[in-house]
Amino acid sequence: MNKVSICVVRVGNVEDFVISVLQSGIKLNFGWEVKLSGEIEIPHQSYNHLRKQFHSTTILHHIKNQVKLKDCSIVLGVTSVDLYVSGLNFVFGEARPVDGVCIISTYRLRPRFYGDEMDEKIFEKRILTEAVHEIGHLFNLRHCSNPNCVMFFSNSIFDTDKKGFLFCDNCKSKLKILK
Ligand SMILES: [Zn+2]
Ligand SMILES: [Zn+2]
Repeated sequence: MNKVSICVVRVGNVEDFVISVLQSGIKLNFGWEVKLSGEIEIPHQSYNHLRKQFHSTTILHHIKNQVKLKDCSIVLGVTSVDLYVSGLNFVFGEARPVDGVCIISTYRLRPRFYGDEMDEKIFEKRILTEAVHEIGHLFNLRHCSNPNCVMFFSNSIFDTDKKGFLFCDNCKSKLKILK
Protein backbone atom coordinates (compact mmCIF):
# COMPACT_ATOMS: atom_id res chain seq x y z
CA MET A 1 0.00 0.00 0.00
CA ASN A 2 3.04 2.29 -0.10
CA LYS A 3 2.32 3.84 -3.49
CA VAL A 4 -1.04 5.15 -2.34
CA SER A 5 -1.43 8.89 -2.59
CA ILE A 6 -4.44 10.76 -1.37
CA CYS A 7 -5.49 14.15 -2.65
CA VAL A 8 -7.22 16.22 0.01
CA VAL A 9 -9.69 18.82 -1.23
CA ARG A 10 -11.37 21.45 0.89
CA VAL A 11 -15.07 21.59 0.12
CA GLY A 12 -16.01 25.06 1.28
CA ASN A 13 -14.19 26.65 4.17
CA VAL A 14 -12.09 24.26 6.27
CA GLU A 15 -9.59 25.39 8.88
CA ASP A 16 -5.88 24.69 8.46
CA PHE A 17 -5.79 22.59 11.63
CA VAL A 18 -8.01 19.92 10.04
CA ILE A 19 -5.91 19.76 6.90
CA SER A 20 -2.63 19.46 8.79
CA VAL A 21 -4.08 16.69 10.99
CA LEU A 22 -4.94 14.74 7.85
CA GLN A 23 -1.60 15.45 6.22
CA SER A 24 0.57 14.40 9.12
CA GLY A 25 -1.67 11.74 10.69
CA ILE A 26 -2.31 9.69 7.56
CA LYS A 27 1.33 9.75 6.48
CA LEU A 28 2.57 8.94 9.96
CA ASN A 29 0.19 6.05 10.69
CA PHE A 30 -0.27 4.48 7.26
CA GLY A 31 2.57 5.75 5.10
CA TRP A 32 0.16 7.03 2.47
CA GLU A 33 1.15 10.28 0.78
CA VAL A 34 -1.26 13.14 1.23
CA LYS A 35 -1.35 16.00 -1.26
CA LEU A 36 -3.34 19.19 -1.02
CA SER A 37 -5.51 19.82 -4.05
CA GLY A 38 -7.01 23.18 -3.24
CA GLU A 39 -10.56 24.14 -2.52
CA ILE A 40 -13.87 23.80 -4.33
CA GLU A 41 -17.19 25.38 -3.50
CA ILE A 42 -19.99 23.47 -1.87
CA PRO A 43 -22.52 22.88 -4.69
CA HIS A 44 -25.66 24.87 -3.80
CA GLN A 45 -27.90 22.09 -5.09
CA SER A 46 -26.64 19.84 -2.30
CA TYR A 47 -28.36 21.99 0.35
CA ASN A 48 -31.66 20.71 1.72
CA HIS A 49 -33.61 23.66 3.14
CA LEU A 50 -35.98 21.49 5.15
CA ARG A 51 -33.23 19.50 6.82
CA LYS A 52 -30.73 22.38 6.89
CA GLN A 53 -28.10 19.83 5.88
CA PHE A 54 -26.07 19.03 2.78
CA HIS A 55 -26.60 15.90 0.69
CA SER A 56 -23.22 14.20 0.67
CA THR A 57 -23.76 12.07 -2.45
CA THR A 58 -24.44 15.24 -4.48
CA ILE A 59 -21.18 16.70 -3.17
CA LEU A 60 -19.28 13.51 -4.07
CA HIS A 61 -20.50 13.76 -7.66
CA HIS A 62 -19.41 17.39 -7.70
CA ILE A 63 -15.93 16.52 -6.41
CA LYS A 64 -15.58 13.83 -9.04
CA ASN A 65 -16.44 16.32 -11.78
CA GLN A 66 -14.25 19.13 -10.42
CA VAL A 67 -11.10 17.37 -9.28
CA LYS A 68 -8.76 15.62 -11.65
CA LEU A 69 -7.48 12.32 -10.29
CA LYS A 70 -4.22 12.80 -12.17
CA ASP A 71 -1.61 12.46 -9.48
CA CYS A 72 -3.54 10.64 -6.79
CA SER A 73 -5.06 7.25 -6.16
CA ILE A 74 -8.07 8.67 -4.40
CA VAL A 75 -9.66 11.98 -3.44
CA LEU A 76 -10.68 12.85 0.10
CA GLY A 77 -13.01 15.82 0.39
CA VAL A 78 -13.24 17.63 3.72
CA THR A 79 -16.07 19.92 4.70
CA SER A 80 -17.26 21.65 7.84
CA VAL A 81 -20.99 21.52 7.01
CA ASP A 82 -23.45 18.88 8.24
CA LEU A 83 -23.93 15.98 5.81
CA TYR A 84 -26.77 13.52 5.28
CA VAL A 85 -27.83 10.74 2.95
CA SER A 86 -31.44 9.70 2.50
CA GLY A 87 -32.49 7.26 5.18
CA LEU A 88 -30.08 8.56 7.82
CA ASN A 89 -30.30 11.59 10.13
CA PHE A 90 -26.71 12.47 9.36
CA VAL A 91 -23.42 10.96 8.22
CA PHE A 92 -19.86 11.61 9.38
CA GLY A 93 -18.77 10.87 5.83
CA GLU A 94 -19.47 8.91 2.67
CA ALA A 95 -17.41 7.03 0.07
CA ARG A 96 -18.01 6.14 -3.55
CA PRO A 97 -15.49 3.39 -4.37
CA VAL A 98 -16.61 3.36 -8.02
CA ASP A 99 -15.35 6.95 -8.37
CA GLY A 100 -12.43 6.78 -5.93
CA VAL A 101 -13.90 9.72 -4.03
CA CYS A 102 -14.90 10.14 -0.40
CA ILE A 103 -15.79 12.96 1.95
CA ILE A 104 -15.78 13.60 5.68
CA SER A 105 -17.49 16.33 7.68
CA THR A 106 -15.99 17.88 10.79
CA TYR A 107 -19.41 19.26 11.84
CA ARG A 108 -20.18 16.51 14.36
CA LEU A 109 -16.56 15.80 15.31
CA ARG A 110 -15.99 18.92 17.36
CA PRO A 111 -16.31 18.37 21.11
CA ARG A 112 -18.35 21.59 21.28
CA PHE A 113 -21.08 20.04 19.15
CA TYR A 114 -21.79 17.77 22.14
CA GLY A 115 -21.48 20.56 24.69
CA ASP A 116 -17.94 19.54 25.68
CA GLU A 117 -14.95 21.84 25.85
CA MET A 118 -12.66 21.99 22.85
CA ASP A 119 -10.00 19.28 23.06
CA GLU A 120 -7.64 19.26 20.10
CA LYS A 121 -6.45 15.70 20.78
CA ILE A 122 -9.98 14.30 20.72
CA PHE A 123 -10.92 16.38 17.67
CA GLU A 124 -7.75 15.23 15.90
CA LYS A 125 -8.42 11.55 16.63
CA ARG A 126 -12.00 11.84 15.35
CA ILE A 127 -10.88 13.52 12.12
CA LEU A 128 -8.36 10.74 11.47
CA THR A 129 -10.84 8.01 12.38
CA GLU A 130 -13.53 9.22 9.98
CA ALA A 131 -11.03 9.86 7.19
CA VAL A 132 -9.40 6.42 7.47
CA HIS A 133 -12.85 4.79 7.59
CA GLU A 134 -13.90 6.38 4.28
CA ILE A 135 -10.49 5.70 2.72
CA GLY A 136 -10.92 2.07 3.80
CA HIS A 137 -14.17 1.94 1.80
CA LEU A 138 -12.26 3.20 -1.25
CA PHE A 139 -9.95 0.22 -0.78
CA ASN A 140 -13.10 -1.88 -1.00
CA LEU A 141 -13.33 -2.67 2.69
CA ARG A 142 -16.85 -3.10 4.01
CA HIS A 143 -18.12 -2.46 7.51
CA CYS A 144 -16.46 -4.63 10.14
CA SER A 145 -18.24 -6.21 13.11
CA ASN A 146 -15.29 -5.50 15.43
CA PRO A 147 -16.19 -2.38 17.49
CA ASN A 148 -12.47 -1.65 17.93
CA CYS A 149 -11.82 -1.53 14.19
CA VAL A 150 -11.91 1.70 12.20
CA MET A 151 -14.23 -0.01 9.67
CA PHE A 152 -16.95 -0.51 12.33
CA PHE A 153 -20.01 1.57 11.41
CA SER A 154 -20.38 4.63 13.64
CA ASN A 155 -23.93 5.32 14.67
CA SER A 156 -22.77 8.04 17.00
CA ILE A 157 -19.64 9.82 18.19
CA PHE A 158 -19.34 7.20 20.96
CA ASP A 159 -18.70 4.52 18.33
CA THR A 160 -16.15 6.77 16.65
CA ASP A 161 -14.30 7.45 19.91
CA LYS A 162 -14.35 3.78 20.89
CA LYS A 163 -13.07 2.32 17.64
CA GLY A 164 -10.18 4.70 16.87
CA PHE A 165 -8.42 4.96 13.54
CA LEU A 166 -6.64 1.59 13.24
CA PHE A 167 -7.70 -1.41 11.15
CA CYS A 168 -8.26 -4.76 12.88
CA ASP A 169 -6.01 -7.64 11.75
CA ASN A 170 -8.72 -9.02 9.49
CA CYS A 171 -9.27 -5.72 7.65
CA LYS A 172 -5.51 -5.10 7.56
CA SER A 173 -4.98 -8.41 5.78
CA LYS A 174 -7.58 -7.43 3.18
CA LEU A 175 -5.80 -4.11 2.68
CA LYS A 176 -2.61 -5.97 1.86
CA ILE A 177 -4.28 -7.88 -0.94
CA LEU A 178 -4.60 -4.60 -2.82
CA LYS A 179 -0.88 -3.98 -2.78
ZN1 LIG B 1 -18.74 3.20 6.42
ZN1 LIG C 1 -12.01 -4.70 10.86
